[in-house]
Amino acid sequence: MESLPSPTLWAIPFFVATVAGEWLWSRRNSNIRYETRDAITSLSLGLGSLVAGFATAGIVFALALWAYDHRIIDLQITWPQALWLVPIAFVLDDLAYYWFHRTAHRVRWFWAAHVIHHSSQHYNLTTALRQTWTGFFALSFLFRMPLFFLGFPPALIFFLAGLNLVYQYWIHTEAIDRMPRWFEAVMNTPSHHRVHHATNPRYLDRNYAGVFIIWDRMFGSFEPETADEKIEYGIVKNLTNYNILWAAFHEWIGIIRDLWSAPWRYKLNYLIKPPGWSHDGSRESSETIKARWAQSAQQERVTWQNMTSSLSAADRQEARLPGDSAKMESGRSA
Ligand SMILES: [Zn+2]
Ligand SMILES: [Zn+2]
Repeated sequence: MESLPSPTLWAIPFFVATVAGEWLWSRRNSNIRYETRDAITSLSLGLGSLVAGFATAGIVFALALWAYDHRIIDLQITWPQALWLVPIAFVLDDLAYYWFHRTAHRVRWFWAAHVIHHSSQHYNLTTALRQTWTGFFALSFLFRMPLFFLGFPPALIFFLAGLNLVYQYWIHTEAIDRMPRWFEAVMNTPSHHRVHHATNPRYLDRNYAGVFIIWDRMFGSFEPETADEKIEYGIVKNLTNYNILWAAFHEWIGIIRDLWSAPWRYKLNYLIKPPGWSHDGSRESSETIKARWAQSAQQERVTWQNMTSSLSAADRQEARLPGDSAKMESGRSA
């Protein structure tokens, strides 16, 4: 078990070939947005993440082994029960990923490590490689610990987690519009994940899935991509430079600043509340952005309704049809 390969390392030649392919494709298709400096930043951030991952892999594995030594079930993952235990492990690991990812967007402490993945205003295969540098520091591995306590061997889970990450690579593209309907219903796809990377109020904090989109459908965080709304990629407050250190650490620096300046009773909230929360309400979180958007959409609907109904009332008055106004009143309240 200890000798299972690392899927992310094995996939590097595939990453290189497909990034080159997509880049060539983008040169022929003007609707695919690619920017060389942005792509180089993404690749550099990917390399940095690899280094950070290597530096901390030993400790994470040791902690996982410790949990596994205290397992509550002794699963015998040997032939033939591996045939169903390994798929179950994959699905449970993906569920753990969903909750990790959802928390990473809703709790600023974890967001500080995850924001790097959303820091590009472009969406292509290189964006997928923008991975965290500070995931270990943020203790993101805690979300997988229940699997080891349950009795799944660490080597197997880390192998499956690697496969999960490799799956998520190919969905970072605008080159694929929609997959077949059954596939869109069950699996995470380029369309679903474009929504996840969008800053449009309608799309903010939606579609946290790793491999299976069913978790979002089950836990109420699903939003489909609509053709009539162009996606704006990035984060609510976009980075203004290509400095890779800033991309990797800016939210941590923001946290330190807030912890320093906020009154004592609010300090903890700057770690555990959603990104954008502030004790004086001077900033915007995805809730306030969504609420404002919903309100203006509602207002627009009301204005539109009033306009059309007053027009028809005028038309009808001109025609002087008796009893019409009464009919109209009942029509409007229906
Ligand atoms: Zn995310
Ligand atoms: Zn992504």
